[in-house]
Amino acid sequence: MALEIVIDREVCMGSGNCSFWAPNTFDLDDDGVAIVTDPVGDPEDKVILAGQGCPTQAISITRNGEKIV
Ligand code: SF4
Repeated sequence: MALEIVIDREVCMGSGNCSFWAPNTFDLDDDGVAIVTDPVGDPEDKVILAGQGCPTQAISITRNGEKIV
């Protein structure tokens, strides 16, 4: 079961940390807010690290409804 990644656009401050850690999963859109480009673009450990590294905790990651980040 793949990770489900949700970004709270109101909370994201556009730091780009997520796209640094998992560049094939996250990117910044034209508004400078993070988006998910491919939820399986990077290894899961990188995606989880990216989520944990968000300075504003804008990223939530779940699997089967179970919270991981
Ligand atoms: S790490 Fe968090 S605050 Fe920074 S761009 Fe990604 S979602 Fe936004």
